[in-house]
Amino acid sequence: MRKVSVLGATGSIGESTFDLLKDADVAVVALTGGRNVARLAAQARALRAEVAVIADEALLPDLRAALTGTGTEAAAGTQAVIEAASRPADWVMSAIVGAAGLAPGMAALATGATLALANKESLVTAGPLILSHAAQHQARILPVDSEHSAIFQALAHEDLSTVTRILLTASGGGLRDWPLERLARATLQDACTHPNWAMGQRITIDSASMFNKALEVIEAREFFGVTPDQIEVVIHPQSIIHSAVEFQDGAIMAHMGTPDMRHAIGYALNWPHRAALPVKRLDFATLGGLTFAAPDLTRYPALRLAREVMAAGGLAGAVFNAAKESALDHFIAGTLGFLQMADLVQATLTALSRESDFHQSPKGLAQVLAMDHLARKTAHQIAAEWGRA
Ligand code: NDP
Repeated sequence: MRKVSVLGATGSIGESTFDLLKDADVAVVALTGGRNVARLAAQARALRAEVAVIADEALLPDLRAALTGTGTEAAAGTQAVIEAASRPADWVMSAIVGAAGLAPGMAALATGATLALANKESLVTAGPLILSHAAQHQARILPVDSEHSAIFQALAHEDLSTVTRILLTASGGGLRDWPLERLARATLQDACTHPNWAMGQRITIDSASMFNKALEVIEAREFFGVTPDQIEVVIHPQSIIHSAVEFQDGAIMAHMGTPDMRHAIGYALNWPHRAALPVKRLDFATLGGLTFAAPDLTRYPALRLAREVMAAGGLAGAVFNAAKESALDHFIAGTLGFLQMADLVQATLTALSRESDFHQSPKGLAQVLAMDHLARKTAHQIAAEWGRA
């Protein structure tokens, strides 16, 4: 029986994965969560997991209590999450949010497991490192971001050298129709709504600011090895076309479906086959129109920053992601305005571009994590100075 693990089981992607695994013929090795003991224990019970790990060490007694009589081992702490990811499995879902997903994902790849990659931050912060690590261990990475899954499916059996453009669709997020001057006053509650997708809080805010799309542009460049100018972002408010690829003969292959992450998760779970999935079907007769527009870079400076990051190369992606996470923390805490998030990321990139490591290709995880740490610290200091000004 196929052995599977889920890192970030208690999150939005983790829950959708659970929904597919509960009816699948698999043996569950490890499930990990950050702080949500109740959901982690409930999933571990339902899936008869070998081990359940909670990242917050203080919650180990609660997890132990919740798993009493189940036969599932309980563990806690960041290192325990990495150890769980290292347990032999055939398929591992990488769905921890943020740079915290990097080390567990790499640990899973080191076992030769197939990594279903939802954690887009991995390729943004350390793309070349992750890809060479996977190649070294003969491990496969399958994309789970719906856009990258769509592109991956459009490219099946195609020659990459015949690709002319990747069309990365974006809903435009919950604040898409707001006038620019109102965006500056957007509150946490405003930014936490999404017109089409039900997702975790952080990625929902990143969708409104388009930082999510900026990460995805960099992720697509790393994953598919195309040049930055081959990637075009297209606003598509209905989120029905999940992304598309144009070939040199002018043909465009697009992936369509309802906005449900179980499409992409199910594809990665069953790859290279297609299995029946419990997703709502598209009804073209009632769909109405599909609309498209070019993104306005004054509204979405994150997209411009992504281009600068790709041009800089080296560890710029690690700085970009860490500064973005720090800016998001400040926005959630109410210490930074919605539009100031991009200003903070820009200021952090400028400050750290003078570091000797900035332009170097990452040589190891420690170097990436050190740059991540420095970028968070720098972003935090800049935000604090702005707060005092
Ligand atoms: P959520 O915030 O819903 O879930 C995040 C998961 O990570 C939870 O299990 C959380 O645990 C766990 N976690 C948080 N911090 C840590 C930590 N420091 N150490 C270990 N575990 C931690 O996020 P999403 O499911 O929305 O997103 C997960 C990843 O997938 C992100 O990288 C996102 O960009 C990507 N993605 C998400 C999509 C979506 O539709 N949601 C679509 C495409 C990509 P707990 O909740 O128990 O605290």
